[in-house]
Amino acid sequence: MGDVKIIEVGPRDGLQNLKAYIPADQKIRLIKKLAACGIKEMEIGSFVARRAIPQFKDIPDVARSVQSIGGVVFSALVPNERGAAAACDSGIKKLIFFFSVSREHNYANVGQSPQDSLKDLRRICGIYLSDPSISLRVDLATAFGCPFSGSVATAAVLQMVEKIAACGIRDITLCDTVGLGNPRLAGETFSVCRRHFPAITFGAHFHNTRGLALANALCAYEIGIRSFDAAAGGVGGCPYAPGSSGNVATEDMVFMFEEMGIQTGVDLKKLLSVCSFLHKTLPQAKLASSLYLAGLPGGPRKRVAPT
Ligand code: ZN
Repeated sequence: MGDVKIIEVGPRDGLQNLKAYIPADQKIRLIKKLAACGIKEMEIGSFVARRAIPQFKDIPDVARSVQSIGGVVFSALVPNERGAAAACDSGIKKLIFFFSVSREHNYANVGQSPQDSLKDLRRICGIYLSDPSISLRVDLATAFGCPFSGSVATAAVLQMVEKIAACGIRDITLCDTVGLGNPRLAGETFSVCRRHFPAITFGAHFHNTRGLALANALCAYEIGIRSFDAAAGGVGGCPYAPGSSGNVATEDMVFMFEEMGIQTGVDLKKLLSVCSFLHKTLPQAKLASSLYLAGLPGGPRKRVAPT
C-alpha cells in the first residue's frame, strides 16, 4: 500500500456514460490490465436495473469472472437492497451505496428523495454491517454542487454525513459529481467533515469537468484525505455537460503524487499502456489524460497534430 490509496473507478464511472455496449470480455480484459498496474481497489460496475444503465446488464458475469484476480478489492455500486443482494451473490465483497445531498439530483438519479435513500441504506446496514466478509462504503453525490439546484451548503453535507454515520457506516466518499467544486471548497468541506467525524474515513471523488480535479485532490490531501477515486484515461464525462471529461485521469493523479514523493503503489508505465489499450479498443471513449498525451518526462511523446 502506498502513502495514498488510488481507487480505480474507470470500469464503472468511465463506462457508464458510453452508449455503445462494451462486451463483458472486453471489460474483463480492462479490469485485468488495471489490476496488473498495482491498483488495489477497483469499482467494476453498478448493480442497477438494466433499463437504468444498459451498459451494466452483464455485471454479474463480470463480477464473477474477476474473482480469480488476487490482491484487488472489487467493489460495485448498489442503489438499494436488491442491488446489494445481487452484488453479494456475484461475489462482490465491497458494496458502495450511493445517493445525493441534493434532493433534485437524487430524484433524477435514483427516483426518490435522499430521505428515502437513507431508509434503503438503513435496511442494507441491517443486513450487511454484521457480516465480516462484506464492507460497506457510502458515496455522497453532489457534495460540492448540484447541476439542478446549484451550490450545496457545507452544513447540508455535514447533516447528511451525520445521518450516514448514524447508520453505522465508517467509510464515506464525498463526490464532486459534475465538477462544480474548487480547491478552497474541497479543502474546507473535508476539513469540517474530518473535524466533526474523526471516526469516519473520508475519500474523495473529483470529476475534472472544469479542469480543477487535481487542484481539489491536492487540497483534500493537504488536510489529511488519503483515498482518491480516479479513472484510467479520464474516461467518462457528465451527461449534463456534453463533451466534458470524466473523473480525473488515474495516471495524471498518480503522476502528481509520485512527482511530489507521495507513493501510490501504481506503475505509471503500465497505466499508460492501459490508456493505449483504451484508445485502441474503445474509440468511442474519449480519453482526457494529460500524461497520456505528453508522455512521461524523458519518455516517448505521442504524435499529435500541430496546431
Ligand atoms: Zn463520478
